[in-house]
Amino acid sequence: AAVLGNMFVLPIGGADMPVVISLLNAFTGLSAAAAGIALDNTALIVAGMLVGASGSILTKQMAEAMNRSIGSVFFGSFGGGGGAVAAGDDGVDRTVRSTSAADVAIQLSYARLVVVVPGYGMAVAQAQRAVADLAAELEKRGVEVLYAIHPVAGRMPGHMNVLLAEADVPYEQLKEMDDINGEFARTDVALIIGANDVTNPAARNVRESPIYGMPILDVDKAQSVVVLKRSMASGFAGIDNPLFYDEKTSMLFGDAKSSVGEVLAEVQAL
Ligand code: NDP
Repeated sequence: AAVLGNMFVLPIGGADMPVVISLLNAFTGLSAAAAGIALDNTALIVAGMLVGASGSILTKQMAEAMNRSIGSVFFGSFGGGGGAVAAGDDGVDRTVRSTSAADVAIQLSYARLVVVVPGYGMAVAQAQRAVADLAAELEKRGVEVLYAIHPVAGRMPGHMNVLLAEADVPYEQLKEMDDINGEFARTDVALIIGANDVTNPAARNVRESPIYGMPILDVDKAQSVVVLKRSMASGFAGIDNPLFYDEKTSMLFGDAKSSVGEVLAEVQAL
């Protein structure tokens, strides 16, 4: 069982991982229900079936959101190894433009629409309250602020919704991927806070990429893109992100919470 489990799960990565986690979660419920039947324990059967059923529904929804079939997630790479695309092999000009909090503050203050794109880095930095404060300050100045929520941003389904709800961000400002993608063309600044894979254009155009085919947030369609992260390190899928070298993109390096705090201070000083 251990060998089978390893051969199934180890080669799976990139866009398939959230689906696998959710399916394994459903299996825990089903095995608890089976144990309940063996032990003739009604509570265990009912609790197990609840976890199993809700986990199965979630797995189906995650697979649909990621444009994957459950069969191809599990059996597509059984026993194989991951094939990452080496950085530098794709003909992308790798010039990175680094920016300052003061410049970002000016861009945001003079924008009409800012779309915040949160990701795993916002969770690590616990920057959600600082982000909500920055958004409130911008709204006071007449800037419209929306949040783009990718179904697998972070490390668990609904991760970003939970964090932003905790920071009292109004629910109507949270936009699901399908609703927000059409808005990027009229977006002045896409402000990416610790997100990486969910914005990677390689998912659209690099066939060999482990995230190829995964729907992404079309941030590269915005007039300008500001990325807050600590370094040029890759995200969960372990691949380079051509968005960071796009001529519209500027990088504000540092911990997301401190960077957002610095931008907020600069906006307040304007
Ligand atoms: P990613 O994992 O792609 O990227 C997160 C980025 O956050 C990193 O590049 C990192 O860069 C940055 N970061 C980390 N800490 C900080 C910090 N303190 N301050 C600022 N930036 C920070 O995240 P995404 O949300 O874009 O994508 C989620 C990924 O996780 C997808 O590949 C998805 O498939 C996978 N996944 C999702 C699950 C789910 O259910 N939601 C479950 C399992 C996997 P740096 O180190 O340079 O700062």
